[in-house]
Amino acid sequence: MRLAPRDDLALVDGYHSPQVDVAVRLNTNEAPEPPPMAFTARLAEAVATVEWHRYPDRSYQTLRGAIADHHGVAPEQVFAANGSNEVLQTLLLTFGGPGRTAAVFEPTYALHTHIARITGTRVAVGERTDGFALDIAEVRRVLGEARPEVTFLCSPNNPTGMVDPEAVVRTVAAEAPGLVVVDEAYGQFAPWSALALVDAERPLVVARTFSKTWSMAAARLGYLVGPPWLVAELDKVVLPYHLDAVKQLAGTIALSFGDEMRARVAGIVEERGRVAAALADLPVEAWPSGANFVLFRPSARDGAEVWRALLDRSVLVRNCASWPRLGGCLRVTIGTPEEDDTFLAALAEVL
Ligand code: PMP
Repeated sequence: MRLAPRDDLALVDGYHSPQVDVAVRLNTNEAPEPPPMAFTARLAEAVATVEWHRYPDRSYQTLRGAIADHHGVAPEQVFAANGSNEVLQTLLLTFGGPGRTAAVFEPTYALHTHIARITGTRVAVGERTDGFALDIAEVRRVLGEARPEVTFLCSPNNPTGMVDPEAVVRTVAAEAPGLVVVDEAYGQFAPWSALALVDAERPLVVARTFSKTWSMAAARLGYLVGPPWLVAELDKVVLPYHLDAVKQLAGTIALSFGDEMRARVAGIVEERGRVAAALADLPVEAWPSGANFVLFRPSARDGAEVWRALLDRSVLVRNCASWPRLGGCLRVTIGTPEEDDTFLAALAEVL
């Protein structure tokens, strides 16, 4: 006998990015390289000391302190979970839910809407401009009509790569009636961060992840920085012992490789400039990116056809061609220089 899920889940589709066996995989915005060897060695040593029969530190004090030090904030301002997706889910379980509304501005990260629905939160949809910018008049319309308990911004925005200007984010923070979540999964690649807007009172949080810059997508670790009163509410909602002992060690050790991480980010930003310049010479429209990926649309060819032709050349990019508002668009993650050369050569050939 098959059972029906909750009625309000009936139309929810799972979220997935097809993984195919290819030579060059540039579809999920991962870091192109694994973490430094010294990280892996230190983690292996640390794992040997884990007391496997004991629950991990429920409030992950060492990791929390290390993240707080990294950002120059108090440990009480940090909440970590299994990927920033779980951070967002915990926010919605706490501040969203039945009878409450979350606002998103499309096109943006699909999981904001997906997690809102799963947590029973109504979604109010605002539109970005044709050029994918946040339009303050539209933001005001949505905030005024929907009075959302949670407003999502995503800067740099996935999948467009565009960075919301500081003045716009400040205006949203000042005018939103509830919590403002600035998803900065790609924040390290951008010229400015909303972290400076976080204080002890303002209902604004900045979410970050170890999946991209820290080369640790496999570890599933993300966090937010926000006011202590808000973090205290999240601590009550998240499951006990949600962060396992190995993950706590991995995150803490990773943070001692800050210099290596910054060097990698600088390399990816430089490489992004090179890819953008090469795309400018091809018959595509490309959007300015503050992230580790670039969104582009072939001018004279069908996006889905180009995606398929790249796949035939063993290059996998993200196919956004059929997504609402993104007709014909593809998104390419910045890889190693060799991977990017292979991608650019394949694209030039296809076009
Ligand atoms: N936010 C944005 C904007 C993302 O693109 C991603 C990853 N695709 C995430 C959050 C989730 O990252 P993770 O759960 O790996 O930390």
